[in-house]
Amino acid sequence: MKYHLHHSIPNWMIKAVVATNCRECDQSIIKDDIVGMGVKEVGKEGKVNIFVEYQCHGCKHAARMNFSSQTASVEEICYLIIDEVQKKWRTQKAQSVDNGNLPKSKMTAAETKKFIKKMNSLENFDDFLKLIGANNLVEKEDINDQPHP
Ligand SMILES: [Zn+2]
Repeated sequence: MKYHLHHSIPNWMIKAVVATNCRECDQSIIKDDIVGMGVKEVGKEGKVNIFVEYQCHGCKHAARMNFSSQTASVEEICYLIIDEVQKKWRTQKAQSVDNGNLPKSKMTAAETKKFIKKMNSLENFDDFLKLIGANNLVEKEDINDQPHP
C-alpha cells in the first residue's frame, strides 16, 4: 500500500501549504499537491531553510515554500522532522524508536528532549518558527517557470 507523501510530513508544514494559493492560477493548494520536502543550509551565517515543494493540481505550476531558522543546525532540524514524522507514524502503529544512530547534535540530550517535547505540542507553524528562532516568515520561490500546457 502506497501512502501519499503528506503522511510523512509534519502537520504544521501541511497547514502552511494548504493555507496558500497557487501563484499562477490562484487555486487553493491541497495536501495532495505536496511533492517534496527538505532541509538546506543557506549562505555562510548558518541560516537553514526547511522547504516543502508542491505542484498545483490545477495548472501544474511548481513552487517551494521556505521556512528559515537561524538557531538550529541542518542536523538538528532533520532530527526534529524525522522525530515528528516518526511520531506521526507511531499513532498508526506502535513502534519504539532507537535513538542510537541519530546524528550528533550541538544540543545536549536533555535540551533536545525538552525541545522535542515542546515541538510535539505545537499546533501551528508560527509556533514552530518561534521555537526555532526564525527571523523571517515564509517566503515562496518559483521553481518552474515553464509555460503551462
Ligand atoms: Zn495553479
